[in-house]
Amino acid sequence: MTPCALALFSVVLWESTSIKRLLHEETLVMAASEFVDAATIQGYHAHVYYDPETREIAARLREALERGFHVIMGRWRDEPVGPHPQSMYQVKFGPDEFARVVPWLMLNRRGLNILVHPETGNAYQDHAENALWLGQKLSLRLDTLR
Ligand code: ZN
Repeated sequence: MTPCALALFSVVLWESTSIKRLLHEETLVMAASEFVDAATIQGYHAHVYYDPETREIAARLREALERGFHVIMGRWRDEPVGPHPQSMYQVKFGPDEFARVVPWLMLNRRGLNILVHPETGNAYQDHAENALWLGQKLSLRLDTLR
């Protein structure tokens, strides 16, 4: 290799290394800024699904929720509504009540399927990507949220 070619080779090598380092640093910065602050969660919904056979279980769960927690209960929805493919009622609660309500539902849902989702202001993401399911995950009608 001539001295000139060697110099050129060194420059190319140095540049590719620094470009790689820059890309790596940029990736780290991007990754950090892509995390969403959980403080953007204004509250939560738990959607308790039932059918004619499990309606009585859902009713007892509902009474206990109203009695024991700081929740706002939605009305009985016997017909599918919005993204929900099955009968359900909504349970609304604040971030401060999450640690009480969700573990209690885990232990007392008696086979009912429950969707827990945050309220961040983006209903589609909250149902499609940010949701937590107790029991079986139902296929939501997400097109209603677009
Ligand atoms: Zn909801």
